[in-house]
Amino acid sequence: MKPVLIRGGRVIDPSRGADGVADLYLEDGKVAAVGRDIGSPDEAVVIDAAGKLVTPGFIDLHVHLREPGQEDLETVATGAMAAAAGGFTAVCAMPNTDPVTDNQAAIGFIVSQAQRAGKARVYPIGAISLGQKGQQLAEFGELVGAGAVAVSDDGKPVVSSHLMRTALEYARTFSIPVADHCEDPTLSAGGAMHEGIVSTRLGLKGIPAAAEEIMVARDILLADLTGGHVHLCHMSTRGSVELIRHAKDKGIRVTAEACPHHFTLTHEQCEGYNTNAKMNPPLREAEDREAIRQGLRDGTIDAICTDHAPHHYDAKEREFDDAPNGIIGLETALGLAITELVEPGVLTLCDLVNRMSTMPARIFNLPGGTLAPGAPADVTITDPKADWTVDPAEFFSKSRNTPFAGRRLTGRAHVTIVRGNVVYQRER
Ligand SMILES: [Zn+2]
Repeated sequence: MKPVLIRGGRVIDPSRGADGVADLYLEDGKVAAVGRDIGSPDEAVVIDAAGKLVTPGFIDLHVHLREPGQEDLETVATGAMAAAAGGFTAVCAMPNTDPVTDNQAAIGFIVSQAQRAGKARVYPIGAISLGQKGQQLAEFGELVGAGAVAVSDDGKPVVSSHLMRTALEYARTFSIPVADHCEDPTLSAGGAMHEGIVSTRLGLKGIPAAAEEIMVARDILLADLTGGHVHLCHMSTRGSVELIRHAKDKGIRVTAEACPHHFTLTHEQCEGYNTNAKMNPPLREAEDREAIRQGLRDGTIDAICTDHAPHHYDAKEREFDDAPNGIIGLETALGLAITELVEPGVLTLCDLVNRMSTMPARIFNLPGGTLAPGAPADVTITDPKADWTVDPAEFFSKSRNTPFAGRRLTGRAHVTIVRGNVVYQRER
């Protein structure tokens, strides 16, 4: 492996409070040096990063890669390539595959598929319950031993408070978080979008904000009871942000993530029965979107994740009520975050890197999130001024379901480096 010298970029490393023009030297898969005018051996790959941002690689805590079971929608390899093209050096794969990733062999399969692909790192998340049926806990020790970094029944909530309590207690002994999809199914049943003025106008059954908030409140109470670490997935309502803020003030072990669609879009996007605006949790109101932005700003929401959820074109062509939930996000997240959060002044670039790299690494206890010497050579070089229009036909993902087609964005990944290897470079 050749050493890599990244020359003259704006190096932003929230883990060390660093922000300034510097060179970054990578050798043997690790960060070897950061500083001014670093010399390099003749064989080194030299990347000119003038005018670009050089940061620890972005880490997405929440993606659905559909393998095994739905390889026509996405595979570990295509998802890892889409991740690299979006500037992500690592993604965490949710276990709601077919079969469910709820045992050692299934975790091992994801790990080996990711190694074969050799693009972004893929960390498997194991299921909380066997088959995600919400009844019997999976063997967390076995999952962690095989490489799982967290447990989650995402796609479904953990309905039983007793099961959630035991999951938090059990996960605590392995020092991993329990990531929960917060939804009270008795309140959300039959709902296709956010319950509000737009659902009324469209004649669609709604999902009230309380369906999420009830479970957020319960999970916080159970984290307090058990001392376990609960990580709240894809937060979407202002009430959830308030509950988390209060819990953090009390010192409860809760972390939270939010997705670009929830800080960018509102339920108005569903007008015209646009199925690419159908997701779970649903797009909410302008006040909710604003609360998510403020939560990211003040740290109530720790991390930005994509909830990348590939679906068939045909499936999204169905009637709104019958269409599947979710959108792909790996190749638009960075541009949306810069355009919607940094340009309006909600986050500084350093805050953004913190929410997309340093904090995700900390929350799931992953390598990366820092450019300290000795850290893994996982680096994203971003062109913060790239002015581009989202064209799903260009995506590396196998799927095209996005509400952002045609949207003009600022900021895009330029080069993505994993373990010291260039895994993605944008063509001129
Ligand atoms: Zn979910």
